Amino acid sequence: MKTIDTAFECETGSYHTFCPISCVAWLYQKIEDSFFLVIGTKTRGYFLQNALGVTIFAEPRYAMAELEEADISAQLNDREESKEICIQIRRDRNPSVIIWIGTCTTEIIKMDLEGMASKLEREIGIPIIVARANGSDYAFTQGEDTALAAMVHRCPVIDMAISKNEVCMGDCDNSYKSKDQSQIKTYKLETHNLVLFGSLPSNVASQPNSEPKHQNICVTGWLPSHRYAELPSLGEGIYVCGVNPFLSRTATILMRRRKCRLIGAPFPIGPDGTRAWMERICDVLGMKPKGLKEKEEQIWKNLSKYIKIIGGKSVFSMGDNLLEISLARFSVRCGMIVYEIGIPYLDKRYQAAELSLLKTTCEVMNIPMPRIVEKPDNYNQVQRMHELEPDLAFTGMAHANPLEARGIDTKWSVEFTFAQIHGFANAADVLESVTRPLMRNPGSIPSWKNLSKQEPLHC
Ligand code: SF4
Repeated sequence: MKTIDTAFECETGSYHTFCPISCVAWLYQKIEDSFFLVIGTKTRGYFLQNALGVTIFAEPRYAMAELEEADISAQLNDREESKEICIQIRRDRNPSVIIWIGTCTTEIIKMDLEGMASKLEREIGIPIIVARANGSDYAFTQGEDTALAAMVHRCPVIDMAISKNEVCMGDCDNSYKSKDQSQIKTYKLETHNLVLFGSLPSNVASQPNSEPKHQNICVTGWLPSHRYAELPSLGEGIYVCGVNPFLSRTATILMRRRKCRLIGAPFPIGPDGTRAWMERICDVLGMKPKGLKEKEEQIWKNLSKYIKIIGGKSVFSMGDNLLEISLARFSVRCGMIVYEIGIPYLDKRYQAAELSLLKTTCEVMNIPMPRIVEKPDNYNQVQRMHELEPDLAFTGMAHANPLEARGIDTKWSVEFTFAQIHGFANAADVLESVTRPLMRNPGSIPSWKNLSKQEPLHC
């Protein structure tokens, strides 16, 4: 095993990742009455068409407002053009909310999207939310962060005077239920107002929902909700906790603008992360965690067949989706050696609990702390891989096949974004997908001589 420096580094930012507008792919499915309008030039159309594959044939609730020469040179009236498109969307789809996704082009030509949206929504009678999910400022999953941060402003204000007279019943179905004072027996809302933020598919969301329920904590709302009208109420008495590591902007806005109290916890990825996440919530809310240790142990037992395969193997994570720290921590706990964690952007405060769990996990497993490289340089990373010779690389599609061709097993990192990786129950799925490439080429340690400094081909 090679030893590496434990350090945070920052490179040139020359790395491959998805454009953050790709967040429409999962957000339009999550918010059932929404419509996403991406405003930009043809490039984004091509990207969406390619990245979202067959969904484009299923009349999805997203579209492109394609800017032309005349829009960019201000010969057309942006507001009139946008109004026409939004009226057409209202007529054809009747959504409860239209979400405008700003792109690099709207940034560069300085389109006043917020100004236009606030006037238009009054004129056409549908809320219009603006998310600047452009690739100049953000990477891949951060697109969701910009959309959720914009949505925070539309969440209703909680009236604590009313909620004191309401009680969350034992069957905890995420709704407030008013009861007489005499019927208040379980717990009062003002001590357990917990709103979770982060978009998870409904079947996965039911797990982070049910874990707090087992601990007698009621999740009173989710951001985003299934429907625009069901956005959670926010205010001073509300505790908020993230389920994804890429939502630092949303967390900041929840604290600063809506005065919510952020529970800084590791993320519920892997059984260790899920337990730590839940324990932290219990700790902040003054509850004693019940049965989490046993549950975690049981899950580890069930994972033993995967751990036999990956234990002792080394992995190099190139970095493109901001899930890297949590996945590295889970991998280390499974006995893997993580050489490097590339990550597009690291908010050390929002990820503080996750970083500290990673450190503790490395100590417990007696494995050196990986080097963490923010804004990595893919070329340099390939050179480092050449020296470190990892067994597996978590990488984007741009590098996966070239690395495979040189005999390196790879796992497409984009799959972690779309697969179900949260909660106790999905830990096996994560390991299933990590072990698959290793099983495909058992024992393949590559010949590295072709990886770098190649001679040009002479035909
Ligand atoms: S990164 Fe910018 S230029 Fe590229 S597709 Fe996304 S919005 Fe357009």
